[in-house]
Order: sequence, then structure tokens, then C-alpha cells
Amino acid sequence: MTTRFTGNFTQQEPIPEEAIQAAVAVMRSGRLHRYNLGPQEEGEVSALEREFAAWSGARYCLAVASGGYAIATALRALGVGPGDRVLTNAFTLAPVPGAIASLGAVPVLVEVTPDLVIDLEDLAARADQAKVLLLSHMRGHLCDMDRLMEICDAAGIRVIEDCAHTMGARWRGVLSGRHGAMACYSTQTYKHMNSGEGGLLISDDPDLMARAVLMSGSYMLYPRHGAAPAPEVFERHRLDMPNISGRMDHLRAAILRPQLAGLEARCAAWTERYRAVESCLRDVPGVKLPPRPQAEAFVGSSIQFLLPGRDAAAMRAYVAACAARGVELKWFGADSPAGFTSRYDHWRYAAPAPLPATDAVLAGLLDMRLPLTFSLEDCRVIGTILAEEARAAAG
Ligand SMILES: *Cc1c(COP(=O)(O)O)cnc(C)c1O
Repeated sequence: MTTRFTGNFTQQEPIPEEAIQAAVAVMRSGRLHRYNLGPQEEGEVSALEREFAAWSGARYCLAVASGGYAIATALRALGVGPGDRVLTNAFTLAPVPGAIASLGAVPVLVEVTPDLVIDLEDLAARADQAKVLLLSHMRGHLCDMDRLMEICDAAGIRVIEDCAHTMGARWRGVLSGRHGAMACYSTQTYKHMNSGEGGLLISDDPDLMARAVLMSGSYMLYPRHGAAPAPEVFERHRLDMPNISGRMDHLRAAILRPQLAGLEARCAAWTERYRAVESCLRDVPGVKLPPRPQAEAFVGSSIQFLLPGRDAAAMRAYVAACAARGVELKWFGADSPAGFTSRYDHWRYAAPAPLPATDAVLAGLLDMRLPLTFSLEDCRVIGTILAEEARAAAG
């Protein structure tokens, strides 16, 4: 008898009760806008910024409307403007090149390796083409961050980290997001904290952060922020920054604060689930799992594996066989974008040149979510189905 998995790949955990209570209190107060505060009241948004800065070890934090908004704001804060070229990963999610394009800037795509990280040799070869790298830690895979920073520092490239999939991950003990000049996080439903939509931006650089705060739509109320630079820093920028409204509100911040308190435990639970699926796929002929280096402490909120050398028909057949048994895989080799999954050559606005190494990787790359509503037993069932179908396909 063949086992079938009946769980739901897009079902998230409920919002913690404490967060629901905090959200209700905000609604009762009627004060939802971040600058609508009672006398002496800190407010949920400022408190979240203060707590996220403390958690990450960054000097400054700004809460915003989405991860994509955080990225575009970081690019603007670094002075990226129309026509400027920005290095970024060819293997990433559409909002990353989209944030670059939203400024009228031009993405310069860098190849991915079979280990699913940015190709550092290709990055070094293109280092003279841009002054900013928007580094996306796509699906939680961290490259050798020490080597990456060496390359960028030597070339005078400033780094923005997109940590949408690495909130809580570390490279040699350093938190992801603490290597570059600024780092961006998403608190959209499918990321590591869930406020429906939302984003966070961190930095140690007072001028970059003052610009970001002003652009986010702070009017002249920046002294009310919980983790912003001193007022004299704002004096240097306050009349030069356009207001590009993208603030977070108290309701979302209220939902996020209790989740931040429980973040490390949830990261560990994700990685346990990842390891449970991974162990079923280890040693299956024809399946390649990306290595997870000793230096990398990752958050396994999704898993990727490759079936190298299979043609498109075989990849589609494998995805269909797993789907028939209740296991939802995404394939990065499809000719047209589907749902959240797209490939660099679908971003026609970026006029991408062909990237043969990336094409070869994506043609065999599969991707699966691991929501925390799955038990470890669920993960073993899923892993067994993936392995059985891979063995069947290998004949
Ligand atoms: C989700 C995501 C973003 C954008 O976040 P939003 O909050 O949806 O705007 C950026 N980069 C990556 C890699 C993502 O997965």
C-alpha cells in the first residue's frame, strides 16, 4: 500500500494567544498609526524596533510595511538611483530584482552554484560592474560570508543583505544580517515571523538609518522611534529625503513582539523538520542534497534538493508523482512562473543575459515548504514519499 500525505503545505501556526491579546488592546485603544501615541507611551512599533535591534545586535532598526519595501529603502539609503547597476543573485525571489527595478536601477545577475549559494567567482568577475550588492540568502543557504565580504570590501562594494529566509541563521556564529551595511527582513505570512505583511530593516550606520527612517514616512516625528540615530544625524538629512510612505502600524507590531520572543525555539523546530526530511533523502540514488557547511547555522523553513541530469519531462513526472501522494513540490525549471516560483529569465524587465551555470542548476532544482504545523512524523512520511518516488523514477 502506498502512503499518502494529507497535510497542508501552506497552513501556518496560529498567532500566539499573547499576540492576539496585544492586538486586541491596540484595536481597543483606537491608536493604530505608529505616531498616534498616548502621553509617555512608547507604542508597539517603537518597542518592536528596540527589541529587534537588541535581538540582532544592530544599533538601529526600522519597522516597515513589507520586506520588499525594506529592500527598496535600503537601496535608496545607499544612494542607488535610476540607471545605477546593482549586483544581485540570479537565484532569488521576484521581489528582489523587483525592488531594484522599482528605483529605475538595473539588476546585474550573478550565477548560483550547485550548492545553491551565490557564485563567489562570478561575483568577483563582475565586481567592477556595480557599487552595491543586494545579497539574497535565498531559501536560507548562506555562502562563505567571510570570503564574500573580502571580495566586496576589496572592490568598494556595499552589501545589503536580504534575510527573508535567514532570520535567526548564523555564519561562524555571526547572525545573518550582521555582515553588510544594512539587512532586510520580511514578516509576511510565509517567513519566520507572521504579521500578514511587514518588514524590518537594521543597520549600524547612523546616516543610512536616518535616511531610511525619513523615507519611510516619519514626517518630523523621528524622535519617537525606539531604535533610531540621534536627532543631530537627522539634521543632516531631514530636508533632503522624500517621504515614500511605508510605515508599520501598531497592530502588526503587537502581533510580532511575542513571536520575536519565541523565534529561537521556532528556528530550532524548523531545522529539526528539515533534518527529518533530509535524512530520508540521503543516499537515494540520483538525489543531490545541498551540503550544509559546519560554519552555517541555518533555519530549515524549507528544503531544496536536486535531481541532476533529468530532463524537463522527468522533472514534471516526479513532481506529479509526489503531488499524487499529497506532497507539494515547486520546480525551478518550469518555462513560465507559477505562484511564488519564478526564474531569472522570467524577469524580462531586467533584460537578463543567459546564465548557463544557473540554468543547469535550476533545471534540476526542487523546493518544498516545511510549515511548523507539520509534526516530525509528518516530515518522515513526506521524506519517505520523496525518496520512494525518486527511487521509482531512477528505475
Ligand atoms: C518574501 C521575500 C521578499 C519580500 O518580502 P515581502 O514582505 O513579501 O515583500 C524578499 N526576498 C525574498 C528572498 C523573499 O522570500
